[in-house]
Amino acid sequence: MTSNAELFSAAQAVIPGGVDSPVRAYGSVGGVPRFIEKAQGPWIWDAEGTRYVDLVCTWGPALLGHARPEVVCAVQEAASKGLSFGAPTRTETELADAIIERIAPVEKVRFVSTGTEATMTAVRLARGATGRDVIVKFAGNYHGHSDALLAAAGSGVATAGLPGSAGVPAASTADTIVVDYNDVAALEAVFSEHGDHIAAVIVESCPANMGVVPPEPGFNAAIRRLTTEHGALMITDEVLTGFRCSPSGFWGLQQAGEEFAPDLFTFGKVVGGGMPLAALGGRADVMDLLAPTGPVYQAGTLSGNPLATAAGVKTLQLADTGVYQRLDARSEKWRGELASALDAAGITYCLQNAGNLFSVFLGVDSPVRNYDDAKSQNAEAYTAFFHAMLDAGVNLPPSCFEAWFLSDAHDDEAFEVFRAALPKAAEAAARVISA
Ligand SMILES: *Cc1c(COP(=O)(O)O)cnc(C)c1O
Repeated sequence: MTSNAELFSAAQAVIPGGVDSPVRAYGSVGGVPRFIEKAQGPWIWDAEGTRYVDLVCTWGPALLGHARPEVVCAVQEAASKGLSFGAPTRTETELADAIIERIAPVEKVRFVSTGTEATMTAVRLARGATGRDVIVKFAGNYHGHSDALLAAAGSGVATAGLPGSAGVPAASTADTIVVDYNDVAALEAVFSEHGDHIAAVIVESCPANMGVVPPEPGFNAAIRRLTTEHGALMITDEVLTGFRCSPSGFWGLQQAGEEFAPDLFTFGKVVGGGMPLAALGGRADVMDLLAPTGPVYQAGTLSGNPLATAAGVKTLQLADTGVYQRLDARSEKWRGELASALDAAGITYCLQNAGNLFSVFLGVDSPVRNYDDAKSQNAEAYTAFFHAMLDAGVNLPPSCFEAWFLSDAHDDEAFEVFRAALPKAAEAAARVISA
């Protein structure tokens, strides 16, 4: 048997940092990343044969649990007919129909392979549609790693404590304006100064890449109002929240209180059921500006891949309202147990959620409304908490800036492992905070 440590050093010799996505390297929590051999339901197993309850769920896609048999079967069946054609298939239309059925403002969909491609394309499309260059984004929101959007980004950029990225030309972000999240007055000021040049505002439907930071009531609707008034588009990034927070994503959760229709949505993660698949969708007149019907170029050799679309179609078929009801109830129960353990250890914390999606900010005693608030949490306390949970068989995100994910497969057995691990982890965090 080869240990995680041996696999990590072998990987580091040939792959920068030993990983293909930075957060996986455990840079902020330290220690040796677990090399995963297999996953099933709520469990993952590492190279040493250790089993963990998984609250990363491949960063969201495993809504139904890992390796759900019907989804695996759909992929195997598709694979037996060929891995890629570079030509249209009926499954792409089926998946587009399933998305359009759930999200009313989406009239047309284009499939790509990653969330990064989806947001990058949405930005290009908005610029093409408006003939304007300026993009407004919010601090701590993460939209993948295209040049224009790597300014004050969340997720791995936040974890590494970086303002942005080397290798991004100043010209690429010169037309990106970053505004504090949940600050309508600041957004109004930006529009009154630059309104005629703004192509789009891009926003996470509910930010979940600086921890979970819900929009205050009316915030998303205010973005809609301002963009409409100034002839700009609203791009709602649901790569993480889409088909996770509700059947129609976080947008769907909001429609009870405030009705608004963004021009463009981006999707990823759950929509591919664990396969490399993402999408952008929205108003037909805007979407039709994409090539070949329009002048905005976009393409992809593997776009709409038949295995990926098969996984997506099956995942959305199985993700009925019952799944979301169970997940919401389960999330409440798991959050309750977490809160009890943190209370018992005397820790100040803030636990925030968006439907079943949640995260905890340790050492923070008031609601986290924006990126500055998120950065004020006690990262060392999270490190202690993370490692105590890992030692007890619970795999949490290896960063305090990421959301925690449950699945339809997180059963009582998984809950018991989580419950039993909490007291010691909470005490470990408390020791750091009081030190
Ligand atoms: C994950 C994520 C992305 C990027 O998706 P990738 O598939 O990792 O490129 C974009 N936006 C949000 C909100 C995300 O959570």
